[in-house]
Amino acid sequence: MPTTTAEFIRRELSRGELADIAARVYAGERLTREDGIRLWESQDLLGIGYLADLARQRTCGDTVYFINNAHINYTNICQNLCDLCAFGRQTGTPGAYTLTLAEIEAKARAAAAAGVTEIHIVGGLNPELPYDYYLELIRTVRRAAPGACIQAFDAVEIDFIASRAGRPVADVLQELRQAGLDSLPGGGAEVFAPEVRRRLCAKKIDGQRWLQIHETAHRLGIPTNATMLYGHLETAADRVDHLLALRELQDRTGGFLAFIPLAFHPANTAFSNLPGTTGVDDLKMLAISRLLLDNFRHIKAFWIMIGPKLAQVALHFGVNDLDGTVREEHIFHDAGAETPQYQPAESFLQSIRAAGRIPVERDTLYREIRRYA
Ligand code: SF4
Repeated sequence: MPTTTAEFIRRELSRGELADIAARVYAGERLTREDGIRLWESQDLLGIGYLADLARQRTCGDTVYFINNAHINYTNICQNLCDLCAFGRQTGTPGAYTLTLAEIEAKARAAAAAGVTEIHIVGGLNPELPYDYYLELIRTVRRAAPGACIQAFDAVEIDFIASRAGRPVADVLQELRQAGLDSLPGGGAEVFAPEVRRRLCAKKIDGQRWLQIHETAHRLGIPTNATMLYGHLETAADRVDHLLALRELQDRTGGFLAFIPLAFHPANTAFSNLPGTTGVDDLKMLAISRLLLDNFRHIKAFWIMIGPKLAQVALHFGVNDLDGTVREEHIFHDAGAETPQYQPAESFLQSIRAAGRIPVERDTLYREIRRYA
């Protein structure tokens, strides 16, 4: 009888260095910290991909999501000026900007006219903006694009807004939600390892605070995303510990929608000497995330960071979401991303179908808008 490739990989895996881990994946058992580190140390990319693909199939089947969304980066003025960042500027320096509410309204109206179902809003920590600006920003977008979900302000911004207002985070989140906020993006997590974090972004809130803010949002019924920035100074153990901290919080709250690994782009940062990630790093990162994060339904390959072609290949490495049409993006492009800033829905359909999967347009909360046969 002929042997299929899957049968062949399964047989080889059961004889190789990852045999015990593979057995745990087949049995649906949770992987440990040591398993995670061994996966990172293994060169068996296709074996890891096979296991991640199995876990993806079991968790969410053959559906692959994309979203028709738009990004608004409302200011790049930032008091932190993190070493990892190419986006933040000091007030008054060339290229520094803050969008007025009228400019934001125009962007939101254009997005709504294009049928966008999510408006993704993040920016720098601008000390000149009053608390009301943030509430008005959300109200303005809500009015201009009433049919779109608003995903806005990462945990670092929420901490900053709350401290500027002298208010507890829970109160600020409630007020933002009343203004129209639907969910929080996952940015600002970087890597939780304290020493690496100190070298990347010394002024940023620490990992514990990031987790606390997400837990507060989840307890209030506000879903959030989770991220990890990889490919700079972190070790395999740092990556695994980061994923396990997310898994532990997800066990307690169930409030994370998706995990999105973010490949570090070094250009125009203090780490411009670093080479950036390779395709193998990117695929391993996505596959190992799928295997360790057994309580996350969605693992997203953000095509803006790794390119649409590798993101498509990642559909065979545990991924079930390619993110969105985007339209305009400054944060990663300031750091040297060479991807386009927009991908039309048709190219998602083509890419997902060519990978043998079923394209589904979703909204921010993973509600199906349209399933394409
Ligand atoms: S990473 Fe965020 S907090 Fe740090 S400088 Fe850039 S915009 Fe500011």
